[in-house]
Amino acid sequence: MIDYHTHTSLCGHASGKMEDYVKEAVQCGLDELGFSDHLPMKGGKKNNLSMTLEELPDYVGEVERLRRSFPDICIKLGIEADYVPGNESSLREILARYQFDYVIGSVHSIGTWAFDHPDERDRWDSTDVDNVYANYFDLLRQSARSGLFDIIGHSDLVKKFGHRCEADLSNELNDTAQVFAKHDVAVEINTSGLRKPVKEMYPSKEILTIYQKYNIPIVFGSDAHAPDEVGKDFDKAVLVARQCGYKGYVTFEQRERAVCDFLD
Ligand code: ZN
Ligand code: FE
Ligand code: FE
Ligand code: ZN
Repeated sequence: MIDYHTHTSLCGHASGKMEDYVKEAVQCGLDELGFSDHLPMKGGKKNNLSMTLEELPDYVGEVERLRRSFPDICIKLGIEADYVPGNESSLREILARYQFDYVIGSVHSIGTWAFDHPDERDRWDSTDVDNVYANYFDLLRQSARSGLFDIIGHSDLVKKFGHRCEADLSNELNDTAQVFAKHDVAVEINTSGLRKPVKEMYPSKEILTIYQKYNIPIVFGSDAHAPDEVGKDFDKAVLVARQCGYKGYVTFEQRERAVCDFLD
């Protein structure tokens, strides 16, 4: 099994050294641990959102060092990059500087609103929920079309605090799956939603069923922000994947995808 979504204390809102994440992954019996800390963003350090651009080489170097120290587990160099319309070319430039195994593209904000940030949760009270959902899925599709990402992160994060769309989402979800398939991105089953007010994985079983219909590959991620969250609830995640018809998952190496079947 693989955990492709983990953070480190470099981002300012996660705890634990990178080495501790690896030790936990070994203890869980994972075949692969992928680091995907937040890509440096403007003002990210000051606001405890991400490492600085100056720290990025240290992050990459630490992954390389850990690969040598822990030869029994495969350690991947990933990154979680925010998708912000208009920033595509600067993002492309930063991503080209390092040999990432994969890039997770995540939508965490709509315009200037970081809709999943606890400090900005109040804004939900004065916003039309259906509208937020429509904007969110539109951004997800744009992120896939950008061609910058291998994996689309937590693809219904908009539900994090438990706000539910009243409108019928089926067209929205089918369109989104179609765009994902066309642009050949994978999605993740991200178990961190189970630890959030919504108490549900990202994406929901309903959405995962649609992805499966379009043959969209999956990876697994805990979105660990502490070492003891590595591999968390993966038994549940695999169960849901199988129930939705998935026969396996994919891995990435230097941005090339390989298929891995579930063991019976
Ligand atoms: Zn984070
Ligand atoms: Fe995220
Ligand atoms: Fe994350
Ligand atoms: Zn995330």
